[in-house]
Amino acid sequence: MHSYTLLAPAKINLYLEIVGDRPDGFHELVMVMQTVALCDRITLRPNGLQEFRLFCHHPLVPQDSSNLAHRAATLMAREFPRIFANYGGIDISIDKYIPVAAGLAGGSTNAAAVLVGIDLIWELGLTRPELETLAARLGSDTSFCVTGGTVICTGRGEILDPIAPLTGLWVILAKYDHLSVSTPWAYQSYRQKFQDTYLSSPEEFHHRRQQVSSGALVQAIAQKKPAAIGKFIHNDLEKVVLPEFTLVAELRQVLGDLGGLGTMMSGSGPTVFTLCSSQEVAETIVKEAREILVAPDLQFWIAPITDTGIQVT
Ligand code: ATP
Repeated sequence: MHSYTLLAPAKINLYLEIVGDRPDGFHELVMVMQTVALCDRITLRPNGLQEFRLFCHHPLVPQDSSNLAHRAATLMAREFPRIFANYGGIDISIDKYIPVAAGLAGGSTNAAAVLVGIDLIWELGLTRPELETLAARLGSDTSFCVTGGTVICTGRGEILDPIAPLTGLWVILAKYDHLSVSTPWAYQSYRQKFQDTYLSSPEEFHHRRQQVSSGALVQAIAQKKPAAIGKFIHNDLEKVVLPEFTLVAELRQVLGDLGGLGTMMSGSGPTVFTLCSSQEVAETIVKEAREILVAPDLQFWIAPITDTGIQVT
């Protein structure tokens, strides 16, 4: 049996709209998700035991069975008990480069990598749609992370509708090390504040999805118009996170004023991203932002937009 090392990339939300409540307690969402080439490295080694072991040295990442990567492995063992009994368990090592609890789907992409890697080690031959269906059981963003690219994600995020890949652009990611936003808190706050604006029926959800599918942002992506893409990015969660986290609001303002195609918070934050037409533009903006925002724990990353999801190295 082989060992595998996989690259698990982060995502940003180019669009995030909360359209309603769902009976299962989640929200009905319309999102445009985009893979970014800032990757964690996941190594999977068969261990000959009847258990999965997890190794990750990041202080904010759980080392036990609550880790999403471990949960992904447990799901595979439950789905394929005889194969697990034959092939045995796996040691999962995670080298973290994606900031944690940052709105970049770090845990979800690790889980997706484990599903893809175990499929290879156990020689299951699962298709991408089969892996995405399994992934949906682990979290709302995990299905998208399996294949990545530029995708309209609806339902609670697990219904995937890939669109023309967005390539050639770069992104700045900026985050204060000491800040993290709880995703459940952000959604609950949004519900408390804006529930009266929600749509209520599956027909309405579907109609809203169609509007976004044919709307300004998706059209700008299809026509490869970077300036229009930057103009039409949108995130409903900014309405609750920015007033509460004034440092994030200030960071967004400063980056936006420095140029780039568009600046926004990703997911539930607190990471702010700026889309840029080139690596050079991104580097100039980061240099200028560092001069304005003097904070030792403010970190920047520059990465290309990519259409590649989980990758086997
Ligand atoms: P999303 O954008 O999908 O909402 P996020 O980027 O905001 O996710 P994560 O980095 O996935 O957040 O971390 C959210 C929580 O999940 C953290 O509190 C972390 O402790 C926990 N967690 C569990 N497994 C992992 C993992 N493999 N990597 C990172 N965090 C993990």
